[in-house]
Amino acid sequence: MRFEDLALCEPILRSLKTTGYETATPIQQKAIPKLLAGRDILGCAQTGTGKTAAFTLPTLHRLEESSVPSSGGKRRRQGGGNRVIRALVLAPTRELAGQVGQSLMTYGKHTSLRYTVIFGGVPQGRQVRALQSGVDVLVATPGRLLDLVDQGFIDLSAVEVLILDEADQMLDMGFIHDLRRIVTHVPEQRQTLMFSATMPKQIRELAKQWLTKPIEVNV
Ligand code: AMP
Repeated sequence: MRFEDLALCEPILRSLKTTGYETATPIQQKAIPKLLAGRDILGCAQTGTGKTAAFTLPTLHRLEESSVPSSGGKRRRQGGGNRVIRALVLAPTRELAGQVGQSLMTYGKHTSLRYTVIFGGVPQGRQVRALQSGVDVLVATPGRLLDLVDQGFIDLSAVEVLILDEADQMLDMGFIHDLRRIVTHVPEQRQTLMFSATMPKQIRELAKQWLTKPIEVNV
């Protein structure tokens, strides 16, 4: 399946073209049409399958297609400008969060959307300033995210899309309590995407709590 056959908006198709991608990988073929239709997904996929594009492309499309002009509308202000965090990607490590950020930069470069990546182990000042300048998509490791939420630097009440990447690794690293707390800060009405390399019982149970009638994709 060619990307051009997927109903992605022109700025995204243009970036795929310049990146040199023509055909969608199996997980992208299965996931992208359903995600564009607003479905939740439980994806069992390893790194290397193209899962990052499978969740970033439809998310960027959704936000770009419904982005509001900077003059206002109903969206609340957050930090500088009118931007609010509309998509949140949780990842277990700084490295993985950085890779998701790279994908957002590549696939979103012709869109009007802004993103930032936050993670622990470094001073928070630069991350706080990036947040205050306004982002549409936030990529975060769970601990630093909660730190900044608790300090009042992050408002998750306008999140429309919640993505958990490498969920099994987040559990292995002991982030379960953080994840539960984060989910309480995000609206119940949202699209939720959960990816995991393995599907232990605990992941299935969390999926039952956090996802709504998800499609299941296994690659
Ligand atoms: P991921 O599984 O998300 O870590 O992606 C694995 C690698 O495949 C990354 O380097 C992507 O840039 C690349 N990739 C993802 N989707 C495609 C595609 N449709 N065609 C060619 N390369 C891709």
